[in-house]
Amino acid sequence: MTSLRNLPAIDTLLRACDPLVAQYGHERTVRALRQVVDGARQAALHGDPVPAEAALIAQTAHLLAADSRPTLRPVINATGVIIHTNLGRAPLSNEALAAIQAVGGGYSTLEYDLEPGTRGYRDEHCARILAEVTGAEAALVVNNNAAAVLLALTALAQGRAAIISRGQLIEIGGAFRIPDVMAQSGAHMVEVGTTNRTRLSDYAAAITEQTAVIVRAHASNFRIVGFTEAAPLADLAALAHARDLIVLDDIGSGALIDTAAFGLASEPTVQESLSAGADLVLFSGDKLLGGPQAGIIVGRADLVERLKRHPLARAIRADKLTFAALSATLDHYRRGEALDKVPVWRMISTPPDAIRARAEAWAQAVGGEVVASESTIGGGSLPGETLPTWALALHVDQPNAAAARLRQYDPPIIARVAHDRLLLDPRTVLPGQDEMLLAALKEL
Ligand SMILES: *Cc1c(COP(=O)(O)O)cnc(C)c1O
Repeated sequence: MTSLRNLPAIDTLLRACDPLVAQYGHERTVRALRQVVDGARQAALHGDPVPAEAALIAQTAHLLAADSRPTLRPVINATGVIIHTNLGRAPLSNEALAAIQAVGGGYSTLEYDLEPGTRGYRDEHCARILAEVTGAEAALVVNNNAAAVLLALTALAQGRAAIISRGQLIEIGGAFRIPDVMAQSGAHMVEVGTTNRTRLSDYAAAITEQTAVIVRAHASNFRIVGFTEAAPLADLAALAHARDLIVLDDIGSGALIDTAAFGLASEPTVQESLSAGADLVLFSGDKLLGGPQAGIIVGRADLVERLKRHPLARAIRADKLTFAALSATLDHYRRGEALDKVPVWRMISTPPDAIRARAEAWAQAVGGEVVASESTIGGGSLPGETLPTWALALHVDQPNAAAARLRQYDPPIIARVAHDRLLLDPRTVLPGQDEMLLAALKEL
């Protein structure tokens, strides 16, 4: 009990806290002091020594600093997972960032037509460039692909039947489940085929007067191998169109460039899906497209028009910052410079030798060993597919504890632990982050 009496009063501590009060205000500083002193009291009750006044104030400063940091913070991704969903998916190009700055920092033509000086429509901002780079008739941008799928099903199949293969009743991370989205849309889901095999005849047999759409959903994040069969999209489209039905193709990632050019399996491209006859193709803006979070719908103009006019469209509309960043990202494709300018594609297309040279420069600076490793695409794209890479491997006593310490840096560094080593893959560390990374590793 004698030690407890040594705990200074809040007022006493406060007198030594002028800089904290100046920075954080009186009320927040007092609250933090109380929290720290309460903690010290509890610890003392359990037999811990009472900290000195200076230590209590240092703890308070630390607490206030931690509390003041935003929870959404930039991090350095050294995991080698390119579209890391938990780390914000696609990093944006410099041009996309500049577009956000230009549009977000002031007023814009979001819904304004300059020539007559009257109301315009936000839906127009990415429509033309999307049509141009995908070859589609028309396009619509909404908040994300989950919303795009919900809107398409609701607008085109509510109260009617939607046919889908049992092999495509998928769940994407974040609890997006096709059967749940179907239920939410009010479409009556008709499952056909089996988990591993669905034939064209299964679809044909399920079509009734009630049928409005045939849905295809890309099994983005898993693969069924072995005794499998799926009806080709072109056949599905021919069947659907002969019966006046609509084909919705949820391709997930929305690649405009074929991943096969980089030694990976082919992820379906938007162009492929359209030319195979899909009426509407739906995909994300922030997966392989490499842009901002968005749901993109391209295809037949009459159907896009129906989606635009549905009341749900207003509830899931995209923001001006999205249009700004998406336009700038799409422009890289139009100019044929996506591999250089879109970070996701720059990372995919970086040759292993260039990555090795960077890893070796890191090893020169901080020690460790350069080892062959594998990067992955992530973001629910190309499961099981890897890109050969070179990583810096650090042999440390407790790799998990070391990884935790790297996460305490500002900006936090996210590394991988494998075979009792800390692995840092240069592929996903952005140019310009090397110095910060190496400073942290030196301290470690
Ligand atoms: C990722 C994905 C979605 C969800 O897209 P979000 O943009 O994350 O909403 C839907 N369908 C498929 C097939 C996907 O891969």
